[in-house]
Amino acid sequence: MVKAIYPGSFDPMTYGHLDIIRRASKLFDQVIMAVVGNPGKSSLLPIEAREMLIVKTIDGLEGVVVGAFQGLTVDYARQNNVKILIRGLRAISDFEAELGMAQTNKQLFPELETIFLMSKAEYSFISSSTVKEIARLGGDVSQFVPKPVNDYLKEHFSRGSNK
Ligand code: ADP
Repeated sequence: MVKAIYPGSFDPMTYGHLDIIRRASKLFDQVIMAVVGNPGKSSLLPIEAREMLIVKTIDGLEGVVVGAFQGLTVDYARQNNVKILIRGLRAISDFEAELGMAQTNKQLFPELETIFLMSKAEYSFISSSTVKEIARLGGDVSQFVPKPVNDYLKEHFSRGSNK
C-alpha cells in the first residue's frame, strides 16, 4: 500500500487545501492529512478545531485519514511508515521556502520524497491568512472555505473576538 502524508497548519482549511487532498487521494492508496501544531507557531484555531473542521469537510473522501502531531514532520512520517510527502504550490513565491523545506527533510530522512501538486488556477490566490483577515473584518469568506470552516469563523468572530 502506497501511503503519503499531506502536512500543514490548515489554520483554517481552505478550498485550496481541499483541492490538493482530493487530487492526492486519487494518486495514493492512503493519504494522511496531518495538522501540525507546534507550540512556537501561533495560530488562530486550536489544533483540535483545525482537525475537527478537516474531518467534517472531507467526510467520505476515500483513502484519506486525518491526523495531528507536534514535532518534526519527518518523525511523524517515519512513525507512520510514510515515504511520500505532499505539498501544494500556488506561485513562485511558495517555491523558495518549499524547496528549502524539501531539501532539509531529505537530509533528515533520505528515503522521503516530496511531491508538489500545483494549485488549480482558481484557488491559487487563496491563503489561510487572507481568509482570517477577511473574516476578522466581517467579510464573507464562503467562496474560499468549506461550509464547516465558514460556520466556525462566523461563530468565532461574532462572539466579538478580534483575533
Ligand atoms: P504551512 O504552514 O505548513 O505552510 P498551510 O496550511 O499554509 O501550512 O499550507 C499547507 C500546504 O498547502 C502547503 O504546501 C501550501 O503551499 C499548500 N496550500 C495552501 N494554500 C493552497 C492553495 N490555495 N492551493 C494549493 N495549495 C495550497
